[in-house]
Amino acid sequence: MTKVVIVTGGSRGIGAATARLAALEGYAVGVNYRQDAGAAGEVVREIESAGGRALAVRADVGSEEEVERLFDEVEAGLGRVTALVNNAGVLERQTRVEEMDAARLTRVLTTNVIGSFLCAGAAVRRMSTRHGGAGGVIVTVSSRAAVLGSPGEYVDYAASKGAVDTLTVGLAREVAAEGIRVCGVRPELIETEIHALGGEPRRVTRLAPGIPMGRGGSPEEVARAILWLLSEEASYVTGALLDVGGGR
Ligand code: NAP
Repeated sequence: MTKVVIVTGGSRGIGAATARLAALEGYAVGVNYRQDAGAAGEVVREIESAGGRALAVRADVGSEEEVERLFDEVEAGLGRVTALVNNAGVLERQTRVEEMDAARLTRVLTTNVIGSFLCAGAAVRRMSTRHGGAGGVIVTVSSRAAVLGSPGEYVDYAASKGAVDTLTVGLAREVAAEGIRVCGVRPELIETEIHALGGEPRRVTRLAPGIPMGRGGSPEEVARAILWLLSEEASYVTGALLDVGGGR
């Protein structure tokens, strides 16, 4: 059976690294993005020039209709979806809880929590044996922030990742007998553009000395953990949260 994976937020950072590695491991890849069509198109071109199959699909994971269209377009273009990497995530400028308004909280929770739920639900409706599907795997991309709390930076983002962890554990048990495994990775301090969104592009350099391994991680190091969880090598692993954080 052809392996088809949707990677949400696949246009850059951890998502792009996961899309590229998945293609090398034989997956046809749905590369989802929200606004940067050029970056998503570049990931698709790289995959195709290495002999793989990929399709870029614009969709906001916080929108029910757009998530449905994402899955439909990937299935029409690449085939039945067998895996989902729930990777799309956002944070906003570093601040304290007393400065956060409802508009900001809504933006962060809509992408990180509602988006993860909507994509997971769309995947289950297609993969679950309960719905006539052939099974599959979902990997959520959480964060060590779920445990550390990100004080003084973005407690809202950290809390959203706590919700993603609970989704992972609960959904894993809900669909375990329906052919679907659900696992999560919890990266910490990875070199991507997300830190610029928080207003500190050099955040990894500042905080690296506090990581037991003494350095930040690369998107590829997270991608390898995700691909292992997606693979048959992890066939008895579900509901697990794998920390990818250099010991922190
Ligand atoms: P990034 O470089 O900022 O990339 C984020 C990706 O998500 C982009 O492709 C972006 O697409 C997409 N995206 C954002 N909002 C979206 C939405 N509503 N719908 C669809 N796509 C959306 O981030 P990253 O660092 O690779 O992070 C990826 C995941 O890892 C996130 O869930 C993040 O919380 C988690 N994580 C990162 C770190 C770290 O240190 N980097 C640590 C722990 C966890 P557009 O560019 O088109 O908007």
